[in-house]
Amino acid sequence: MQQKIAQPAKKKQYKKICFKDIMYETGETLIFRETESTTVVGKLVKIIPEGGNPAHPKWPMIEVQWYYKKQDLDFKKLGVSDEDQIHFGDNEVFPTNHHDKIYVDCIQEKCKVYGINEYDKLETIDAKTTFFSRAHYNPLQKILVPAFKDWEQFCVCQKPLNPNNLYIKCDMCQQWNHPRCMGMNDEEAHQTEEFYCNRCRKPPQDEKGNPSQ
Ligand SMILES: [Zn+2]
Ligand SMILES: [Zn+2]
Repeated sequence: MQQKIAQPAKKKQYKKICFKDIMYETGETLIFRETESTTVVGKLVKIIPEGGNPAHPKWPMIEVQWYYKKQDLDFKKLGVSDEDQIHFGDNEVFPTNHHDKIYVDCIQEKCKVYGINEYDKLETIDAKTTFFSRAHYNPLQKILVPAFKDWEQFCVCQKPLNPNNLYIKCDMCQQWNHPRCMGMNDEEAHQTEEFYCNRCRKPPQDEKGNPSQ
């Protein structure tokens, strides 16, 4: 006798969700309420039609992939010294493999996560909803990929760029430098119109082009 194997009915995969008149799509990065005063960034990965909120049984659940911030990282395990933590941005986020199913009403608003190079080119930044990312974080193994030591380095001190800090660009080599590493304070850096870094700065020359004595 031939047996008939029942195929499980294919469930419809929802890609969009309308909540409080705003349409959210899977793949979008959003800001979620964590506590009364704190928020978390995450990517909406799945919409689960079966509700879960007893107060609103018709509201769906959502699955979210969390993006950690620097305060969520285990700097000790990462081998990042206290003084190197200044190279991590305030609105830098680290995609993780940490997923959770949460209530849809945790959504606060949409946000944007850029690669660090794209972010650096933005003309205007809404600091509340604009983030950047240059590494993934694995919360179980407590590792960054790529590792901190492999991030692109700048300045004579060879440290990663923190777009939240002030840098001064060399008009010759176009490299970004910390004002402090160039022997000036932030105010002096703001006032400097033409700047040559310590590597490009040539000894002063006289009218004939000979180095002055
Ligand atoms: Zn420096
Ligand atoms: Zn230079």
